[in-house]
Amino acid sequence: MRIEVYDSTLRDGAQAEGISYSLEDKLLIARRLDALGVDYIEGGWPNPTNPKDLAFFQEAGKLGLRAKVTAFGSTRRTTNAAEEDETLATLLKAGTESIALFGKSWTLHATEILRATLAGNVELIQDSVAHLVAHGREVVYDAEHFFDGYKADAGYAIETLLAAEHGGARILVLCDTNGGTLTSEMGEIIEAVKERIGIPFGIHAHNDSGVGVANSLLAVELGAVQVQGTFNGYGERCGNANLCSILPNLELKMGQETIGREKLADLMGFSRFLSEIANVHHDHRQPFIGESAFAHKGGAHVDGVMKVAHSFEHIEPESVGNERRFLVSDQSGGATIVNKLRRFLPGVEKKDPLVSQVLERVKRLEHEGYQFEAAEGSFELMARRVQGTYEDLFTLINFRTINRKTGVTAEDAEAIVKVDVGGVEYHTVASGDGPVNALDQALRKGLEQKFPSLIQVHLEDYKVRVLTSGDGTAAKVRVLIESSDGRDVWGTVGVSENVIEASWIALADSLHYKLLKDALAAAGEGQAATG
Ligand SMILES: [Zn+2]
Repeated sequence: MRIEVYDSTLRDGAQAEGISYSLEDKLLIARRLDALGVDYIEGGWPNPTNPKDLAFFQEAGKLGLRAKVTAFGSTRRTTNAAEEDETLATLLKAGTESIALFGKSWTLHATEILRATLAGNVELIQDSVAHLVAHGREVVYDAEHFFDGYKADAGYAIETLLAAEHGGARILVLCDTNGGTLTSEMGEIIEAVKERIGIPFGIHAHNDSGVGVANSLLAVELGAVQVQGTFNGYGERCGNANLCSILPNLELKMGQETIGREKLADLMGFSRFLSEIANVHHDHRQPFIGESAFAHKGGAHVDGVMKVAHSFEHIEPESVGNERRFLVSDQSGGATIVNKLRRFLPGVEKKDPLVSQVLERVKRLEHEGYQFEAAEGSFELMARRVQGTYEDLFTLINFRTINRKTGVTAEDAEAIVKVDVGGVEYHTVASGDGPVNALDQALRKGLEQKFPSLIQVHLEDYKVRVLTSGDGTAAKVRVLIESSDGRDVWGTVGVSENVIEASWIALADSLHYKLLKDALAAAGEGQAATG
């Protein structure tokens, strides 16, 4: 059966400690989620105090995504009529086809948090849903704290579901908002509830008891047709049920269809991309898509896997885009590199010498701290440099940056850059908000004279990650830059012990990538892959 995948990485996932997405991050993630094949992308809670989320819906509307971009928000206030309620009005203003509306199922929350009467809460659920439906929206009704509500007063919790159903909701989503419900208990409640409702139901589980994934899988077994969660399990407190585990379990073990087997092979790449954009470490021990998920170290295990792979593996690593690794003799990488290369060299085969050359280079660079999942621009440049199909159109002679900061004034910075373009030396100076900005300005000042198309390139985002230092060595930083020329978006990366140098590498690659794209277009080779 086809199970709907409802992603909340951009909403519940953004409520995680330590995660904060810019508008550009959110749009970039939305595009990748869409490519991965999720059905719903919950984009945030558009309300007057949160202009970033409202802007997201405006911009996302222009992307032409296949997935339903969904606005999230609450039922009306107790004192307003639905027609006059600002929250509902803002939800409609987001202009999405689908709206996730959450309401209170738990008597405690209805009376103590919402300060409504029990009857009043039921009424406002029904007319809030009806109001959105009357405006042509599909309503996904999130029954907040449903399982706790059911345990406190089963009859009342069901009554709130029926109010949403009568209001015209398309689906009722049972939420374990506090994440405290154990799996057996959840099963009993779902069995009882499904007899009482007349429309399909979905599941939204949190992971506070460590059983978010198990609860979601059980709900599907009992008839849920929609599963909500976040990738990498990001979310408030201990996180949401992790779609990186739910999807392969449903597809590979439970005979259900979600994003399909072909897209499932992109799961690990997506997970690592998301870690980079969220600027948090990728969890190596995550089931399915952690780097260690199929790493064999013990001698007997290695020996066993060499003889019969599944003797020590629960699934084939390639089915989720991961790979088998033998930690004693590293033989990994070929298949992943072929997949990445095929994005811009469609015909490349695994036995092509380019594959092993690029693999060798990637391994060396990853060892130095590079990560290419969110830096497809740098990856393609590196591969084409190895292949000899891109020769750098400019090279650095030297640069210098000067910073000035006094006790009272803001920082001001100046950069002096000398680059060689086809034997001609360009020597430029520029100032900027900080040394990296000044460096960017000075570099462009020189290059734009020769390559006017670089004027179109804008830096959309700049991220710095401090990498943990090895024994006795200085800590390195990884700089990730997202650039756009108004048509395509690409990521580039630089690593160094010095943040200015790491930034230079990523900046220079950003402009090299634009020049590569232009050269390919001129040669009629189509477009470089962007991501
Ligand atoms: Zn939640």
